[in-house]
Amino acid sequence: MDFNEDEFNDEEVNENIDEVNEESTETAENSEEFTETAEDADLILFNTCAVREHAEDRVFGNVGALKALKRRHPSVLIALCGCMMEQEHVAEKIYKSFPFVGLVFGTHALHRFPELVYNSLTLSKRIIERGTDDNLVHEGMPIQRDGDVKTWLPIMYGCDNFCSYCIVPHVRGRERSRKFDSVINEAKEIINSGYKDITLLGQNVNSYGKGLPEKVSFADLISEIDKISGDYWLRFMTSHPKDCTKELIDIIADSKHIVSHLHLPVQSGSNKILSKMNRKYTKEQYLEIVNYAKQKIPNLSLTSDIIVGFPGETYEDFKETLELIKEVEYTSLFTFIFSSRKGTPAALMDDPVPYEEKSKWFSEMLKVQEEIAAKRCASMVGETHRVLIESESGKDGELSGRTSGNIIVELNANSNIIGTFQNVKITQARNWILKGELE
Ligand code: SAH
Ligand code: SF4
Repeated sequence: MDFNEDEFNDEEVNENIDEVNEESTETAENSEEFTETAEDADLILFNTCAVREHAEDRVFGNVGALKALKRRHPSVLIALCGCMMEQEHVAEKIYKSFPFVGLVFGTHALHRFPELVYNSLTLSKRIIERGTDDNLVHEGMPIQRDGDVKTWLPIMYGCDNFCSYCIVPHVRGRERSRKFDSVINEAKEIINSGYKDITLLGQNVNSYGKGLPEKVSFADLISEIDKISGDYWLRFMTSHPKDCTKELIDIIADSKHIVSHLHLPVQSGSNKILSKMNRKYTKEQYLEIVNYAKQKIPNLSLTSDIIVGFPGETYEDFKETLELIKEVEYTSLFTFIFSSRKGTPAALMDDPVPYEEKSKWFSEMLKVQEEIAAKRCASMVGETHRVLIESESGKDGELSGRTSGNIIVELNANSNIIGTFQNVKITQARNWILKGELE
C-alpha cells in the first residue's frame, strides 16, 4: 500500500476518488498479499481525502455498502484512514453510523498503522485514533510502489497557507519538510531501481526547507536531484504561484531532467476573488511568472487548478477567469465547483449564487478549455516528441505514454518498449490525446 499523503492531485479530473484499498493480511493460503475482491480480504482499508464534499460522500456510500460483507465474514477488519478522519465530526459520524468499522485513524497516526491493526485484531475492540499532531516527519516507513515506470516522492507534509476555502491545513497540520539527505537518498534509490518518471510531492513545494535546521531550499533540492545520473524525468507539484520565483524557472530551464511542465494553480482570474481566497498574489503577478516561464522554457506545458463559484463570485469575476485561461492557454485544467468545508473561513461567507448557475459557468469553462487543448494538440501534429512509454492502456490495445509536457500519446508498438523513452512522430490529435508512431 502506498502511503503518500498528498495523492489527491494525481488524477486527470482530480475527483479525489478515494479508492478502496483492499489488503489481505492473511489469505486462505496464509500468504500476505493484495486481493482483487473485497470478499477475499481479511483487511479492507479506505484511504480518504477531505478536500471536497463529493469525495467524502463517496466514502460514506462505499463503507455503507460493506455492511452485508461484514455480516457474511465477521472476521474481516474494516478500517478507514486519511485526512477525512482528522475531522472530529466525520470520525465520530463514521464510528457511530457504521458499527462494523473496526479501526479509524487519521493522517497523524499513519506511522502507527501496524500497531493499530495489531491492537484491533488482538484486543477485539474498536479503535479510533486521531488528532495527535506531533508535527514530525516519520522516516523509514515501508513503501510499496505501484508500477515500475512512474512514482511519487513526498518531500514535505502539511500546509501553512490557509487559503480560505481549503481544509488541508486544518487536517494535515503545519508544513514540515523531509530531511534533504532522506529525499536525495530516496531519489537515488528510485532512479537506481529503474523508475523513469519521478514526481516530487508537497502542498507547496516551493517552500521546501522552511523549518529545517540545514539551510536548504526547493531550488537546492531539485538542483541536487538533477545531478543524479540516469535517464529519467523529474516533475513536481504543487507550486504555489506566490512562491514560484524566476530563479526556480531558470533552474528548470537549465536542468537536465526536469520536464517542460509546470502545474501552477491559479484558482481564479479575478483579483477580488483571489484576495477573498487568501491566495496572496494578483492576476498580474501570476501572469508575470507565467510569461517569464513561457519565454525561458521551450514548449512549456502549463496546467492549473480552478475553483468556480467561490462565495461572492459574480459572472463578471468568472469571466475574468475565462479570459485568463484563454491568455495562458493551459494544456489541461483540474476544475472544481466550490465545496463548502466546515471550519474554513469561506464556509462562513455569503454564497448567493445557486449551484445550478455555478454548474453552467463550469460547463462554459470546460468548453473553453477543450478548445484550447484541442488547438494545442492539433498544432503538435507532424512534430517528433520524446515520449515515455508507460503502459498498454491505450485504446484498442495500443501503448500509452506521455510527453515531457504530460500530454498522452497513444501508439501501436511492441509492449517490450514499456518503460523506455522513444522518439514518437505525432500523426493525429484527438482533443487532448495524441496519436503517434515510432520514428
Ligand atoms: N496545495 C495545492 C493544491 C491543494 S488541493 C495548491 O495550493 O494549489 C487541490 C485543489 O483542490 C486546489 O488547488 C483547489 O483547486 C481544489 N480545492 C481545494 N479546496 C476546495 C474547495 N473547498 N472547493 C473546491 N475546490 C477545492
Ligand atoms: Fe490548500 Fe492553499 Fe495549502 Fe493548497 S496552498 S493545500 S489550496 S491551503
